[in-house]
Amino acid sequence: MLELKNICAGYGKNQILADISLSFPKSKFICIIGPNGSGKSTLLKTAMGIIPILSGEIYIDSENVNSLSRRQLAERMAYLSQGKNVPDMTVGQLVMHGRFPHLSYPRRYSEKDKSIVSAALNELRISGLRDKPLFSLSGGMRQNAYIAMALAQDAEYILLDEPTSYLDISHQLELMKSMKRLTALGKGVVSVLHDLPLAFSFSDYIVVLNNGVVVAEGTPEELYNRPIIREVFGIELDYSAEEKSYRYKYIL
Ligand code: ADP
Ligand code: MG
Repeated sequence: MLELKNICAGYGKNQILADISLSFPKSKFICIIGPNGSGKSTLLKTAMGIIPILSGEIYIDSENVNSLSRRQLAERMAYLSQGKNVPDMTVGQLVMHGRFPHLSYPRRYSEKDKSIVSAALNELRISGLRDKPLFSLSGGMRQNAYIAMALAQDAEYILLDEPTSYLDISHQLELMKSMKRLTALGKGVVSVLHDLPLAFSFSDYIVVLNNGVVVAEGTPEELYNRPIIREVFGIELDYSAEEKSYRYKYIL
């Protein structure tokens, strides 16, 4: 379990997040939703220790993160940022980078590292792209390469910031399925998503952030058509029992 307890955080003196308490269990897919500027990216960066907390505590499996080194944190948590700079390397090289926190001196990749990388490429079904430069891939395939890197890292928790942005809908669906497969492997997956139907259709649990506070949380069934969704997003969702999925309700 990754636990945030009464977290306040922000940039310098500019506090963004106020008294956030959340638990992210393993084997679950948690989505964080909220309007632009509500603090979703700040929340992931805070959980990753990228920006310092002003008050509160973060625990990984009951261990306070303060007692862990950066390397120990990197072994246990993987993070895909919202940024879209494409490094000049192949898919295989990128996924190999996931093994970096695990290498001991002298930093050489072992047979075990190589087989973990191959397994991660297989899991995301991109083994055939191993020698392709990242810049030559479509956005969807590139996201899969990043998720394979996170998988090779063998972290227990994988945090992703809007991984479906810039993807067409079929690739968004593929990516959601990839994330579900990670939870089936026991990973705790926490993803910021801006698409409500995707979040509601695929996640086990949803956290709604607005103005830096958690305004609602629960399973998709629990949050479905609660007034707070309309208040925060100005829209409503429609559930199709037949398709077991949610869509936007357009009121024309
Ligand atoms: P979201 O991801 O929900 O769109 P963010 O977490 O990126 O929101 O931003 C929340 C607030 O924090 C915004 O008001 C934004 O202007 C501010 N903010 C984000 N990044 C920085 C930064 N690097 N320095 C200062 N303020 C920031
Ligand atoms: Mg963001």
